[in-house]
Amino acid sequence: MATTIVWFRQDLRVTDNPALILAAKHGEVIPVYIFDENLPSIAELGGSSKWWLHHALKSLNESLGGKLLTFKGDPEKILGSLCDEFDVSGVYWSRMYEAYARERDTKIKQAIKDKDVDAVSVNGSLLWEPMKITKNDGTPYKVYTPYYKNGCLKAPSPRYPEAKPEISFARTRDNLTDKVKLDDMSLLPTISWDTTINKLWNVSEQGAKDKLAVFIKDAITDYNDDRNIPSVKGTSQLSPYLHFGLISPNQAWYAVLDAFDGEMSNNGVYVYLSELGWREFSYYLLFHFESIQTKNFNSKFDSFPWQQNDQHLKAWQTGKTGIPIVDAGMRELYSTGYMHNRVRMIVASFLVKNLLIDWRKGERWFWDCLLDADTASNSAGWQWVAGSGADAAPYFRIFNPVLQGEKFDKQGEYVKKYCPELSQLPNKYIHKPWDAPDIILKQAKIELGVDYPNPIADLKESRVAALDAYKEIK
Ligand SMILES: Cc1cc2nc3c(=O)[nH]c(=O)nc-3n(C[C@H](O)[C@H](O)[C@H](O)COP(=O)(O)OP(=O)(O)OC[C@H]3O[C@@H](n4cnc5c(N)ncnc54)[C@H](O)[C@@H]3O)c2cc1C
Repeated sequence: MATTIVWFRQDLRVTDNPALILAAKHGEVIPVYIFDENLPSIAELGGSSKWWLHHALKSLNESLGGKLLTFKGDPEKILGSLCDEFDVSGVYWSRMYEAYARERDTKIKQAIKDKDVDAVSVNGSLLWEPMKITKNDGTPYKVYTPYYKNGCLKAPSPRYPEAKPEISFARTRDNLTDKVKLDDMSLLPTISWDTTINKLWNVSEQGAKDKLAVFIKDAITDYNDDRNIPSVKGTSQLSPYLHFGLISPNQAWYAVLDAFDGEMSNNGVYVYLSELGWREFSYYLLFHFESIQTKNFNSKFDSFPWQQNDQHLKAWQTGKTGIPIVDAGMRELYSTGYMHNRVRMIVASFLVKNLLIDWRKGERWFWDCLLDADTASNSAGWQWVAGSGADAAPYFRIFNPVLQGEKFDKQGEYVKKYCPELSQLPNKYIHKPWDAPDIILKQAKIELGVDYPNPIADLKESRVAALDAYKEIK
């Protein structure tokens, strides 16, 4: 029997994993994960993502009967020596889309082929791969709606998910070069900030499937409305699972469609699938415009007069801006590793438009704190809010965090959960404590500037300043 390698990367699952299916079909399998510190998204991995990766690898190893080999080092060297030592006939992996990974993988593919070993990459992470969707003139889409409707929905349907294959494992040995135990990969925090996160997330394939099942049962029909209400469990919370591939987008796509007999006509279903489409679009942009993580998509923003204000940045990061919905969001992020999408837009808009701080500073903080930190979706999300992105929100449309709070957190439940010091304020003032009369503040046991900060920016003045700054680059 031949020996094959499956190289796991952002597809940490055993069901619906095309690379694993191929490796299992062609031989006895050596399952491998390599922590490649030269890959920027791994080198700069944030604390939350490291935590997730640790648990995801642990769970994958259990699903593989304890056979996963974890390495730290150069994948070309590690895969090459495994091929030589175990007379491997083929190496299989799911494609990644960031520029460094693509270049690295092309080089590795050639090096493996030069050994007369098959090197096969497949699509295991996207519904539609970026290179397959282009406009009629062959150029890439830059606007989401035509991309999704004319490109994706008119292309062949995504692959239907497949079950876990029967796997026979190849024998290896323990003391392989660069092999490290998962516990020695230093992915877990040294000071235990992860107590809350540990309770909230079941980091496993089963955890992803359970979340999806609950979402389909309880939330999808009302998704179109509830997805905007941060105090309601109206969204799937699958993003970190999708990022690390504990579930494939195909599994989510078809679980939803199958529950509605293949019909997209239910509004919740349609909108949910199109949100998965936004994830695809982010990867599409990253593939076709590889610098979107660090450079303005719209180069006019290169001369935007961003402000350098470390005090404001710190207040934003720590949830002490004095704007309740912003602070609640930033504290949700810090304590749970997650932030609701509506609130991501509000806090990002506040940073970029009210504080005039460069979106890249916000992107980096999200990158460090989010469990779902994703090169494609994070940079696309930030550039969308900043107005510098492809198909972005127009810069002059500036979210008013008070009105956003009053609209999407009417009873102030979300704010009260993460800013408990405001919990006794009447709803009328929960999103603008600075407007509350002294007597009301006193009754609510709040002294502004002591128990809760005064706002660090005047919303009206900072809005005008943002519009003026925008005029400079228009
Ligand atoms: C400033 C900013 C930064 C963001 N950073 C990230 C990030 O690092 N990683 C990330 O996965 N998402 C990011 N998003 C997108 C979005 O906020 C999250 O995907 C979503 O909140 C995840 O929650 P959910 O799984 O419950 O989403 P659901 O509403 O259940 O949506 C289903 C899935 O669709 C995808 N999705 C939904 N909305 C978007 C979107 N706007 N863009 C791309 N994909 C989307 C996600 O994979 C999500 O799991 C960001 C958005 C903004 C505004």
